[in-house]
Amino acid sequence: MYFQVITLFPDMIRNAMGTSIMGRAVGTGMVSLDTINLKDFSQNRYGSVDDYPYGGGAGMLIQCEPVWQAYQKAMENIAQRAGDDTSSRKTRVIYTSPGGKVFSNDLAKELSTADDLVFLCGHYEGVDERILREIVTDEISIGDYVLTGGELPALVMMDAISRFVPGVLHNDVSAETESFGNGLLEYPQYTRPSEWKGKKVPDIILSGDHKKVDRWRMQQSIHRTAERRPDLYAEWLRTRGIY
Ligand code: SAM
Repeated sequence: MYFQVITLFPDMIRNAMGTSIMGRAVGTGMVSLDTINLKDFSQNRYGSVDDYPYGGGAGMLIQCEPVWQAYQKAMENIAQRAGDDTSSRKTRVIYTSPGGKVFSNDLAKELSTADDLVFLCGHYEGVDERILREIVTDEISIGDYVLTGGELPALVMMDAISRFVPGVLHNDVSAETESFGNGLLEYPQYTRPSEWKGKKVPDIILSGDHKKVDRWRMQQSIHRTAERRPDLYAEWLRTRGIY
């Protein structure tokens, strides 16, 4: 998996991706990361990459040409890594946008099968539509709210996607068994001590009977999903032919 992030704030990406599990994944080469600074492709002596929107309105827009040149740089990087044989590579270019398809665990899993993911992080009021039409394969939102820039969405997506890259998690099954992996939310979990401030871990968890523990966990998952996420629960029932 080769991530590239086109951004005005490469440090933000590098710092977050250098930490914890992602830091290990990058450090050991299980995923690769390059940042491309949009400002390096500014078309003027001030180093800016934005301009006023035609037709008026608040704020500024990122211009086409700096994004186009940053994109060319990303494609060059991919060609270099692939020894110029890019024809068989699965490359996707993602624009992080509140107007995109909403990100999900299923989408993270699907994107984890790509070879190269290039993220374009918007800022200000967004990006000139013409360059988006030219280069973007996927427009993706992380939720129905507006952030100041696309860096956090890109980080959220890279983190969730990396969890499906073999070797990134020590325990490869956990990406599947955690919330959403089976269409349900995860069951409650407990660790030592078995009693804390008078609150006890459910006896069944301590019983050592794995079958019973599995059944209890499944029941808890179903109950929790029905209570907290009726939309997910309805979908889970639907996929089982139960209404
Ligand atoms: N004018 C845009 C609109 O109304 O849809 C919002 C622009 S926002 C202030 C600046 C940038 O942050 C966007 O171009 C996008 O890259 C990123 N962004 C903001 N909210 C996001 C979200 N929920 N999901 C993904 N990206 C987001």
